[in-house]
Amino acid sequence: MAIIVERKRLSFWERLYLPQIVSGLFITFKNIFKPRVTLEYPDQSPVLPVGYRGAPTLVKDSEGREKCVSCQLCEFVCPSKAIRVTPGEISPDCEYSYIEKAPKDFKIDMLRCIFCGLCQEACPENAIVLQNEFSINGYSRGDFVRHKCDLYAAGGVMPDKIMKWKKVRDNAELGGNR
Ligand code: SF4
Ligand code: SF4
Repeated sequence: MAIIVERKRLSFWERLYLPQIVSGLFITFKNIFKPRVTLEYPDQSPVLPVGYRGAPTLVKDSEGREKCVSCQLCEFVCPSKAIRVTPGEISPDCEYSYIEKAPKDFKIDMLRCIFCGLCQEACPENAIVLQNEFSINGYSRGDFVRHKCDLYAAGGVMPDKIMKWKKVRDNAELGGNR
């Protein structure tokens, strides 16, 4: 059965509209004297909060070594299929050949990325990190595809907590489990 909802009749003051206009102007004048919260971007840069998740980048350790082992977990977990990892082998002559793999190429399509941070959470090596960059520009779709060298240039260096480079780890580092 249909229910008829009676429309509420406007009071005398509501039909005048003036009280609503005056109360709106009052709010406007109250805010005129408050400090401005808008920025003259790009002349002024915003102060980003701690933990801000901008564009994903690849990072190196303090000795300039690649942290990524091209395990492709980030590629697998990425919901928008923005990441493409081409795994490569570390040369047997290299001092760190026991690490076995490093990315031959690593691409992130910034047009597909939704800055969700799942790649960072999934990475077992802390190699992919969402940093502060939020302004990404280009003239063509290709400009938004970042390759390994672009991602490392944007990522920079982050101290390594994983220590996979040490062939033999002491008990203190492993929490006394060995
Ligand atoms: S932040 Fe999210 S969408 Fe962007 S590359 Fe990482 S997992 Fe993919
Ligand atoms: S960034 Fe991390 S998760 Fe992605 S391939 Fe490299 S090591 Fe694996």
